[in-house]
Amino acid sequence: MPDPTDSYLLQSQLRHIADLVLLFGFVLALAGELLLPAAGARWNRARLAHGAHNLVLWLIVVVVISFVFGSVVWALLQWMQWRGIGVLALLPLPGWLHAVLAFLLLDAADYFFHRLSHNARWLWLMHAVHHSDPQVDVTTNLRQHPLHAVFTQSWKIAACAAIGVPPWVYLVHEILTLAFAYLHHAAIRWPRWLDPALSWLVITPRMHWNHHSPEPARTNSNYGVVLSWWDRAFATLTAPSAEPVQFGLHALDAPRWQSAFGMLATPWRARSLRQL
Ligand SMILES: [Zn+2]
Repeated sequence: MPDPTDSYLLQSQLRHIADLVLLFGFVLALAGELLLPAAGARWNRARLAHGAHNLVLWLIVVVVISFVFGSVVWALLQWMQWRGIGVLALLPLPGWLHAVLAFLLLDAADYFFHRLSHNARWLWLMHAVHHSDPQVDVTTNLRQHPLHAVFTQSWKIAACAAIGVPPWVYLVHEILTLAFAYLHHAAIRWPRWLDPALSWLVITPRMHWNHHSPEPARTNSNYGVVLSWWDRAFATLTAPSAEPVQFGLHALDAPRWQSAFGMLATPWRARSLRQL
């Protein structure tokens, strides 16, 4: 009997949900910012300008990713499943256990790539563009250097091949990653009880705000996107601060780093900055 989780219908529905989360996640997070703004998150000209620069960068990322990968990612995932590629595919596991382990290992792979993006200088010069935003809000989520986006996607494909991730599990993880990424960056006044209630399981927005602090001890913490277990297991977890967190990177605060061109050029221009 065919596995129902491999059905074309389920996979196409999940792809549809991923597209909806990408679009409406932005709209909902923006609505949340307007209705319940976080302390200090006021709309002014500077914030509108930073949002416009971040959106321009995101459009470039979309074009670059579409050009480099197109629909290759999806075809590759299908092919890898068909060929039985990956460690989990070699083990005689029941379907549910294969799915749970694939989800956990994929989430751990994201954690390690994010950690590597802070520790390998050449990756950090690209990832610093995401961290140099002095006003973290929903548009910060879209602020990625196109080259870093290409490396992130390549790492994911490699991780799926090594682990043996079924396409539908990849999609479920992608949907959660998209949703969490919007929630983490939205400048919303989240209730304080969320942190003790949820931080044992997931990375809460205030935990991720720590990650956007210019203080290295905080920047280099809370690398997780969905689960908080990897940060806990590898001693990189920091508790959310009771005080509002300052955002950005001191070395990249100047306006020349904040324009769309400045962000694109950061990996080359910032190479000699010792304080970064
Ligand atoms: Zn980071």
